[in-house]
Amino acid sequence: SVKLASRVAELKPSASIAAKKKVTELQAAGRQIIDFTIGEPDLDTPAHIIDAAVVAMRNGDTHYTATAGTPALRQAICAKLRRENGLVYTPDQIVVGCGAKQLIFEAFAATLDSGNEVVIPAPYWVSYPDMVALNGAKPVIIKCPESRGFKLKPDDLEKAITPKTRWLILNSPNNPTGAVYTREEMFELTTVLARHPHVWILTDDIYEHLMYDGHQHVNPLQVDEKLAARTLIINGLSKAYAMTGWRIGYAAGPKDLVDAIAKLLGQSTTCASSVSQAAAVAALDGDQSLVRQAATLYQSRRDRMVELLDGIPGLRVRAADGAFYLYPSVEGLIGRKTPAGKILETDLDVSLYLLDEANVAVLDGAAYGLSPYLRLSFAISSPAIEEGCARIRRACEALR
Ligand code: PLP
Repeated sequence: SVKLASRVAELKPSASIAAKKKVTELQAAGRQIIDFTIGEPDLDTPAHIIDAAVVAMRNGDTHYTATAGTPALRQAICAKLRRENGLVYTPDQIVVGCGAKQLIFEAFAATLDSGNEVVIPAPYWVSYPDMVALNGAKPVIIKCPESRGFKLKPDDLEKAITPKTRWLILNSPNNPTGAVYTREEMFELTTVLARHPHVWILTDDIYEHLMYDGHQHVNPLQVDEKLAARTLIINGLSKAYAMTGWRIGYAAGPKDLVDAIAKLLGQSTTCASSVSQAAAVAALDGDQSLVRQAATLYQSRRDRMVELLDGIPGLRVRAADGAFYLYPSVEGLIGRKTPAGKILETDLDVSLYLLDEANVAVLDGAAYGLSPYLRLSFAISSPAIEEGCARIRRACEALR
């Protein structure tokens, strides 16, 4: 058998990708699974974006592009950052990659050495700790309990920072909790960061447009622009424009860091797809009302799902302020016995019970660094939400 590098042998597969694989296998075997593990919009990419891709292909946009992305796309990203975030960037401070995920990975590859630390508030997106570890550094996890809104507080940040800290990762709206930092909360964090000039900030803004109940997205630079010299903004087209399969993300930051990331891309993927980049220009420059319509749709699904889950014995659910996930506590189910006589000891046990007995796929909170919770996506159809929640109710009521 193949001898794997130790860093790969130790690597966990992405929990959400593993769940997707398992659900696909069960569905292929004929099981009618309701899948709440989905981490992407169920909507189709808007037609004007697809049209732009077709035109680009016909016009010969079928070659390698500049490694950092086409001038047109980098220009469109600068225009977006100015228009939507009030931030001024020039195209040489932008690098485009195959999804936000690739850019986070390469940012760490470009900057981390062994012994470095990266502060990650939990619950976190599953990939952050593994990306840090894969690049030789140590993830420093700060648990952010539900009682604190699942948000990082300044005193906890202060305590976590050491001379070895290279990065703090911020992700608002958050995957998996949907927590959104207010301007005041962000200010409290930037005040701490201002005291520690060796700490860089990676702000993952990928869900910025999926905001509910009038919440406003704010990133650290909008609160303290002096942090720009050590902040990397990560964003992408996947969630806002229903473009996950097109694989377009970008990073905006200091030119020397952006250049280093581009150098790594030049030795790995060369560039993101030329066709997808042309489509991304159309998405960023085009009609933005579809983005708001999508958010309105998600909000109504969120409302309905909270209503359906609320009151199920053993679950405690709070509405997400952004993104498209609920993160209900299953504390009340731990220690209960299934009809088959198994005691539910962890949130993973709960998720397996729901899959086996109720044909409902969810992700366990352990994968996101805070238990006992489940992550349920509401980027699925309303009928699936109705049926899935009814199944969860029956399964919970069947516990002893
Ligand atoms: N960041 C967060 C918090 C995410 O949830 C995801 C996708 O699930 C990504 C980044 C990566 O998005 P993409 O690589 O599709 O741009």
